[in-house]
Amino acid sequence: MTCDVCGHEMRGVPVTGSPADRSPPVKERWFCPWCHAWTEWGFRPQEVVRPQYEPVNRRWERAESPELPEGVAHAYGHFGATLCGVEHEGLSASPHRWVPEWADACRGCEEAAVVIDRRWPREMRGGKRIGPVPPAGSDWPPFQALGGSAR
Ligand SMILES: [Zn+2]
Ligand SMILES: [Zn+2]
Repeated sequence: MTCDVCGHEMRGVPVTGSPADRSPPVKERWFCPWCHAWTEWGFRPQEVVRPQYEPVNRRWERAESPELPEGVAHAYGHFGATLCGVEHEGLSASPHRWVPEWADACRGCEEAAVVIDRRWPREMRGGKRIGPVPPAGSDWPPFQALGGSAR
């Protein structure tokens, strides 16, 4: 699938857990390795979530893993790795936001986040991503409201 934001090829990532555990149920999840926009598909046609642009300090979740050292906050980069490239089994996104302004934020992650931010075209910011209107009776929102990290 082509990224609707930047035109690069998106990569499917496994949807973990059973569909019944999530509301609305997600069938497919796609991330763009270039601009890191993501898209989720439901089980019925037109069930699509496309989170809007978020600035660097509101966009990322903190990475968590027992192997990461305490005292450095890394951002989770969607593909089983931190934005700065730390990768190992069990690394995942925490429910907490990653804020580059914090003193303990990883500088490598911050640099990567700034690079990725520049790849998001200006004309696609400010709520410009469009999603189809979901079918009648669907639980899916017509578009992702602000707060792109909500899953
Ligand atoms: Zn993209
Ligand atoms: Zn890092």
